[in-house]
Amino acid sequence: MLTDIEIAQQCSMLPITKIAEEIGLTAEEIELYGKYKAKLTEDVWERLKDKKDGKLVLVTAINPTPAGEGKTTTTVGLGQAMKKIGKKAIIALREPSLGPVMGVKGGAAGGGYAQVVPMEDINLHFTGDMHAITTANNLLSAAIDNHIHQGNSLGIDLRQIVWKRALDMNDRALREVVVGLGGKVNGFPREDGFVITVASEIMAILCLSSDLMDLKERLGRIIIGYNYSGQPVTAKDLNVDGAMTLLLKDAIKPNLVQTLENTPCLMHGGPFANIAHGCNSIMATKLALKLGDYVITEAGFGADLGAEKFLDIKCRYAGLKPDAIVLVATIRALKYNGGLKKDQLKEEDLEALEKGFVNVEKHVENLRKFNVPVMVTINHFDTDSDKEVEYVRNQCLKLNVEVAFSQVFSKGGEGGRELAEKLVKLIDSTTSDFKPIYDEKLPIKEKIDVITREIYGGKGVVYTQAAEKSIKKIEEMGLDRLPICMAKTQYSLSDNPALLGRPQGFDITVREVRISAGAGFIVAITGEIMTMPGLPKVPAAERIDIDDSGKIVGLF
Ligand code: ADP
Ligand code: MG
Repeated sequence: MLTDIEIAQQCSMLPITKIAEEIGLTAEEIELYGKYKAKLTEDVWERLKDKKDGKLVLVTAINPTPAGEGKTTTTVGLGQAMKKIGKKAIIALREPSLGPVMGVKGGAAGGGYAQVVPMEDINLHFTGDMHAITTANNLLSAAIDNHIHQGNSLGIDLRQIVWKRALDMNDRALREVVVGLGGKVNGFPREDGFVITVASEIMAILCLSSDLMDLKERLGRIIIGYNYSGQPVTAKDLNVDGAMTLLLKDAIKPNLVQTLENTPCLMHGGPFANIAHGCNSIMATKLALKLGDYVITEAGFGADLGAEKFLDIKCRYAGLKPDAIVLVATIRALKYNGGLKKDQLKEEDLEALEKGFVNVEKHVENLRKFNVPVMVTINHFDTDSDKEVEYVRNQCLKLNVEVAFSQVFSKGGEGGRELAEKLVKLIDSTTSDFKPIYDEKLPIKEKIDVITREIYGGKGVVYTQAAEKSIKKIEEMGLDRLPICMAKTQYSLSDNPALLGRPQGFDITVREVRISAGAGFIVAITGEIMTMPGLPKVPAAERIDIDDSGKIVGLF
């Protein structure tokens, strides 16, 4: 089979003006970024805000193998398949970060014959949103150090600054740095660090904002650190919330692109799925619901993190009510959950499959707790045997959950017909009565407890002293009535990546609790969470190249 970039290079894209026209947008409502990318202006929302919404479908997954199980590929392929069966669907996705593109995981525009294009642009600089977010982030950093240099009238405690600089690159050398070296003219030396741009709170804020003025309010609420009496200091206190908003005036507009089969896709924002909520912007999803009859969207990581946060954070804030959830399962991830090692997943192994299937069972049970109809799709890999596929189909029927086989990676939309047809049937024959799993007004610990017991299947929660202290502080600041953003390994339902399948009887340990006052959530961190990844021994960057004819290689 051809590589992703080869497939993408062969496809015939329509001018983006044509895609816009097909979803009823006028020429004045789009801003062109070349021939195949555009941004939607605020006018679109103004014109359509009272129109009836289409159906909202979330694509999520079981606990994955380290290679990823194909949520983006399935989301894109399903969007293409909907078109094949005559339905007007729009895809809503996150924008890729350059870190994984140059590092190990690769692009995030789908795979095989289910991709969003122009994939090279999307995976590189796209429409500059990442640059704008990086710049807004670093303006705030510059303002902090300048404020201190100019006399520190706010009394910012240099040892309690939590705001970090940002860069959209995997660069472990920048995780912890000292800034302000070099004497009096360069300010006061202090410890600082860098996060990757997608881990910046500004990315989460952009994705949760309802419009530009809401964005400004939220940016102003960012807590950059604490003063000498322990009171929070905000971006508004530093008077840069206005300039930060200005830097983001275009980044806030959703991007329009298309799939290999010309299905429209709104691609906008891309927050981390651990210390942030992991899904595209609320604005893109809401606009898509006005422009299409079906909106297919993805949440990062497995359903215990991605779907839970999509439902409890994003849908709660946006007032969205999803109509159906598609749970992506792969035979290889099920065998991995059944105890096989990464290099054994290609062999037929019904025993491991049976042992790992409990993971699907638990996720289906979990998603049903939100009162949204659920179905399973098997993202087919060449190495799956017929017997294995048959086994999963039968087990799903026993669970009383609809299941569809998907070959969108190798066949594009045509390979997703069964999935698309069953999804439409599910939506037509059921009603969603979505409700979040916890009340955000509960005390912090009770909220974490509900997620741990109901979603992870755990017994209880252990807090470190540092976490206890932060919780008290958040309560004192009166910010405890916000949703929880869990930061946890994606490989297990527990906080231990080695506990696969359906672990039971475990406690999770909350090591640290942070407040993202601008985004509007409380981050509960279990285990070690990396906000600035490093590059692997041989990074993807070493295979990426462009020749004198402009031909690109190595972008997967
Ligand atoms: P996720 O969104 O769940 O992280 P992706 O859709 O990005 O996963 O897929 C992860 C990787 O696996 C990508 O490189 C993609 O091209 C590849 N992939 C996805 N589905 C298949 C498949 N059915 N066969 C082979 N490779 C696949
Ligand atoms: Mg993805």
